[in-house]
Amino acid sequence: MLTRTFQRLTCWVGNDTVMAHKTWLAENYVSSAQAPKVHGYTLHGNRYLNVSNRCNLYCHFCPRMDNEWNVQGYELNLRGEPSADELVAAAGNLEEFREIVFCGLGEPTIRLETIVAVGKILRERGARVRLNTNGLGNQYHGRDITPDLVGAVDVMSISLNAQDAATYEKHCLPRKPDSYPALLAFVERAKQQGFEISLTAVAGLEGVDMAACEKIARDMGVGFRGRTLDDVG
Ligand code: SF4
Repeated sequence: MLTRTFQRLTCWVGNDTVMAHKTWLAENYVSSAQAPKVHGYTLHGNRYLNVSNRCNLYCHFCPRMDNEWNVQGYELNLRGEPSADELVAAAGNLEEFREIVFCGLGEPTIRLETIVAVGKILRERGARVRLNTNGLGNQYHGRDITPDLVGAVDVMSISLNAQDAATYEKHCLPRKPDSYPALLAFVERAKQQGFEISLTAVAGLEGVDMAACEKIARDMGVGFRGRTLDDVG
């Protein structure tokens, strides 16, 4: 419904105004009192932890930009962010899952201290822990956070999203300059720390060259996974 409303608004007032409205909604949305708290959800044999709804990007293809928080039947809008204890509890029975994944809807590294604390507990209990991130954690915190994540995370899935800065900025709308090189620098730092890394990109976005994205990953010595829109995980 909201998506259709915004599509109509685009015709009336132009893309810049609509994006401003979408950005406001993504930052200020407060869920209804009836909304269930989904701190953990299961997909593809993995357990995903809904760490935060905050994000430092405004990808136009992200459901949160259309104020749509239902992903595969899970209402991911949070009323307050879960504590470390709540996230550990939300991970459930670790033996049932291939991986425990720090995810969202939102960017988990915004809550760095929490994911480090939770990741260490879960790994000590035998879990394999993955971080799904947009790779802008160093830029956001103004320092190299990859050493903090050692011992808390095994695998990183990092959203590359585009083969060059111009295409990245068009689709992800970073608020800070030089976000694309900051993302690539984060990948290098994470690689130096020994994390298993896969870069991802979404097929079908205008101007995104999946083969070129995969080549960037290969040249950096990390893995690559192509995704389709609405493919969560
Ligand atoms: S980085 Fe992820 S959570 Fe943030 S706006 Fe983009 S798709 Fe959404």
